[in-house]
Amino acid sequence: MLYVDGKWVESGSAAVDPEDRGYNFGDGVYEVIRVYKGKLYQWDGHIARLYRCAKEIKLDMTWTEKELLDIAQQLLEKNKITSNDDAILYMQVSRGISPRAHDIPGSSKPVLMGFVRLKDRPLADHKKGLSTKLVDDIRWLRCDIKSLSLLGAVLVKQYAKDAGAQDAILHRDGIVTECSAANLFAVKNGALYTHPANNMILRGITREIVIELAKNNGIAVHEEPFDTNFLMQADELFLSSTTAEVMPLISVDGQAIADGQVGAVTKKLQALFEQHIEAAVLV
Ligand SMILES: *Cc1c(COP(=O)(O)O)cnc(C)c1O
Repeated sequence: MLYVDGKWVESGSAAVDPEDRGYNFGDGVYEVIRVYKGKLYQWDGHIARLYRCAKEIKLDMTWTEKELLDIAQQLLEKNKITSNDDAILYMQVSRGISPRAHDIPGSSKPVLMGFVRLKDRPLADHKKGLSTKLVDDIRWLRCDIKSLSLLGAVLVKQYAKDAGAQDAILHRDGIVTECSAANLFAVKNGALYTHPANNMILRGITREIVIELAKNNGIAVHEEPFDTNFLMQADELFLSSTTAEVMPLISVDGQAIADGQVGAVTKKLQALFEQHIEAAVLV
């Protein structure tokens, strides 16, 4: 069951209006929210970001937070997600249906769509880590908006995969930004380094949690730009996102990072993250 513009629709029978601006222009914003044991994790943070991103693109949200939570919880219920299930909830808001023209229409009604999909935690990869490729960050200059327009992210991921790597690490003129759909952290001499949350990266909810866990446990965090040389000389690398959590990155362009094993600080943060989600209040 999906939620599409006020209606509940069976999977496979949903339709998109050809002049929905989400479809024509990628004109809208979205969220991917974790469902642990059948319930929503970090709902408040995701919804606050959805409203912020909508505002950034001048899209008037017509739903209250309470209405969105009700729809999200109904999605879990109607899809029979139980306390045995880990899943993701996807929600997007497009600017709605209007005759195709670039100008923002005065009167279009935003279209909300949501679905749930079972998704196990990537526990095997947490132990092994992923390979990566350095790729030019060809995305736009408002990466702080979780925009439906993801062609840049699609292409950089594919460039990495075509080279036999599992994800892309992006850089702009040598300054490392993030991964294709996740934030990037380097560990050097026991401290964390990550790009500041400005317009060059998406401010991940998981990134914020990792930073907080690190600071609360005596690991220094430097939110400052670093270059590809620093990246290659790092003691450890990992990425963070809703679906990947704290994911080690063990190589870049075929070159091992340090000894090519999952590092001690990464393992420590994985353990702290585990404790954190055990204790988290889910809705
Ligand atoms: C969604 C996303 C992230 C991770 O954000 P989370 O809130 O942790 O899931 C990082 N980078 C980009 C480009 C993203 O789209």
